[in-house]
Amino acid sequence: VEESVAEDIARFEDSFVGINKRYRLINRIGEGTFSTVYKAEDLEYNNFDNRWDIDEHESRKWASPSSRKRLLKRPHYVAIKKIYVTSSPMRIFNELELLYDLKHSDSVCPLITAFRHHDQVVAVLPYFQHRDFRDYYRDMKIPEMRLYFRSLFTALRSVHAKKILHRDIKPTNFLYNPQYSRGVLVDFGLAEREGTDWHPCACTQTPEDRRYRISHSHYAQIQHQPPSYPKNETRNSRRANRAGTRGFRAPEVLLKCTQQNTSIDMWSAGVILLTILSRRFPFFHSTDDIDALLEITTIFGRKKLKETSLLHGQVFETNIPSYSDGGHSLEKIILWCTGRSSKDEGTGLKKELEDDEKEAVQFLYRLMECDPTKRITADEALRHPFIARAFE
Ligand code: ADP
Ligand code: MG
Repeated sequence: VEESVAEDIARFEDSFVGINKRYRLINRIGEGTFSTVYKAEDLEYNNFDNRWDIDEHESRKWASPSSRKRLLKRPHYVAIKKIYVTSSPMRIFNELELLYDLKHSDSVCPLITAFRHHDQVVAVLPYFQHRDFRDYYRDMKIPEMRLYFRSLFTALRSVHAKKILHRDIKPTNFLYNPQYSRGVLVDFGLAEREGTDWHPCACTQTPEDRRYRISHSHYAQIQHQPPSYPKNETRNSRRANRAGTRGFRAPEVLLKCTQQNTSIDMWSAGVILLTILSRRFPFFHSTDDIDALLEITTIFGRKKLKETSLLHGQVFETNIPSYSDGGHSLEKIILWCTGRSSKDEGTGLKKELEDDEKEAVQFLYRLMECDPTKRITADEALRHPFIARAFE
């Protein structure tokens, strides 16, 4: 444990009075945009288990079979998510409420409890042993990808069945344990119910949004404007929820569609699959929405992006000559990214994807479908041959 982490833990224990009576903080395991997460030991775990053994007969009288099973599964180690005090109360409430609603969902990390001390709120979740995505995505074989996505779509199916959009699907929010081929979905900080009437307010703004707004007003003051597309657009922009992480946003989010639904998460899952197949992380780099649309245009071509924009009542025009009308196939992009694009020196034959990679690409096309109404759902994805084969 580094000293700075130890100091941070000590400061947290001092400020959150009583936390160390229930938990022994072990390490800092995550520092996200909205929180710091610690691994901790539940100090009542042993007492509880002993008592359980003694009183098992007694407990039959009051605990239903399912709740007894849950109680028996009380975890020894927990993840304590300290939500930054700068988060709005509505945002914190939203996250806890959705987690509570999802408590019985498959592959969603359940909320054990939550505490508040003054303005500090912490959420307590079972600690889930997982590996860092960066350590294994380059080595994943197709059979492993099938298992990874089977687990991810199992989680998304149960979230989407409750008409909840996660909005921030990306590798750091899906904790995966390759040893057991199992993962859990975490971080419902940006999640929302389908059909939420969205008004931009501080509670759903990402730090990126705030930065954008600042640079926006800053640009407006500059007399000389650099020759580029109008990022400093001053007309009232359309209001839509843009929350999420750059590089993982679906085209309809970038196009400010006001009726976003659970299919936005399927696009983000597609970006993860593209990342793994191309061995490039992050795959998309742009910091703002227009650049992000242009990155997508590079792949799918101008024609597709024009059609997609029209779906959302927007007009897409670009005079940059390097974007072709038809774009490039995902096969080609994956071959380029994995250094297999040049002709084989010995035979002069063009290199091709393996058969199982081709199947993965067919599936990828269903996830990265620009029209959200045609995009595959989590339930359909689990029945797609690419995933169904993981059951064989
Ligand atoms: P943020 O909203 O700040 O992104 P997350 O809920 O995504 O917070 O948690 C941040 C990180 O903490 C995760 O990427 C993961 O590394 C770690 N983490 C979160 N929950 C757990 C858990 N239940 N078990 C193990 N690690 C966790
Ligand atoms: Mg996160």
